[in-house]
Amino acid sequence: MFALPKGADLHVHLSGCGRGEDWVRCGEAVGMPGTRAERLEIRRPGPATAFFDEIVPTLTPWRKHPEVILSVLELYLHRALRENVGYAEILTGPFGYRTADAAVPVDYMVRRYRQILRRAQWGVRVHLLVNVARNAADVEDRLRRSAEFAARHDDLWRGVQLSGVEEGDADLVRLRDVYDGLALRFPKLGWAVHAGESSSAPNAVRTALSLPVTRIGHALGGAAYAEALRRGRVTVESSPISNVMLGYVRSWEEHPLPSLLRSGVPVCLCTDNPGVWGAQLTDEFFVAVQFLHVTWSEVVEMTVRSIEAAFCVPEEKRVRLAAHVTAIERFVMVMEQWVVGAAEPPVPVVSPFALRHLAVPQG
Ligand SMILES: [Zn+2]
Repeated sequence: MFALPKGADLHVHLSGCGRGEDWVRCGEAVGMPGTRAERLEIRRPGPATAFFDEIVPTLTPWRKHPEVILSVLELYLHRALRENVGYAEILTGPFGYRTADAAVPVDYMVRRYRQILRRAQWGVRVHLLVNVARNAADVEDRLRRSAEFAARHDDLWRGVQLSGVEEGDADLVRLRDVYDGLALRFPKLGWAVHAGESSSAPNAVRTALSLPVTRIGHALGGAAYAEALRRGRVTVESSPISNVMLGYVRSWEEHPLPSLLRSGVPVCLCTDNPGVWGAQLTDEFFVAVQFLHVTWSEVVEMTVRSIEAAFCVPEEKRVRLAAHVTAIERFVMVMEQWVVGAAEPPVPVVSPFALRHLAVPQG
């Protein structure tokens, strides 16, 4: 699974990419006070409040420091390349950063993101999406500003995502006109929304389907709307590990990924907040195969879907898809050699999450 060409990771919050030790180390490098790494991560499944009410606010000084967040971006890229992720759409905007002394201008962040991502050596193609907090009092305004910003910088920022604690679907109903207006005004931007990442919002996926979005994050409860998802070719960004770690799904076996796949819904696997629980995309595929009994053809299908659903320009997507199909064919041939002992498989880098929760031995 580590060496599998994984296609794209389309739903990954940059503020959730750092592991506890990453934040501590990167923070200390810019003179921030040290802390215990355990304060900045989640090590066992629990209620989502542990994440939204404790981890997120505690992390704020680190995730909002410009140099710390950019160092975490570099770490994500190193790890993604190692586990054969070819393309990523990372949720991060240029707003709200500050050092101990002052707020950081938007233009500075734009310049620094560009500097880092232009370096050719990463080997992972990255686009960014502006992430808007659904619970902000001025969410309509933020959506508008984010879309205008992304459209001005669409070589790098390709779309807009909406996230945060879901409390029913009233906010999505209220935002429908704003989404309709912005999607008409900015037809080249990609539109996605978190919906069904909660047990208190059973209708959220149905409501999200009434928005002009082509991707829905999580979509728990989405199996009930499989036909509409399939017909609308709306892709579900599924993250079983996140759903279990935040207590939205009680066990691997109860995760709806297999039923979505077997209803013909387009699904891709994403990491969501991998650093918070020390995971990587390999672990999502491992869980899907080992505990959710997803088949090889479904694994391949999800990697292909991840590229098909990306917000990059059509020509880039066509080239990526062709290269990915070739990479999968090559992987199958090499895997056959591993099976018969004709070649040695690469040694995987085991994540802290896999060590803790997947009974995967180191090395
Ligand atoms: Zn998310």
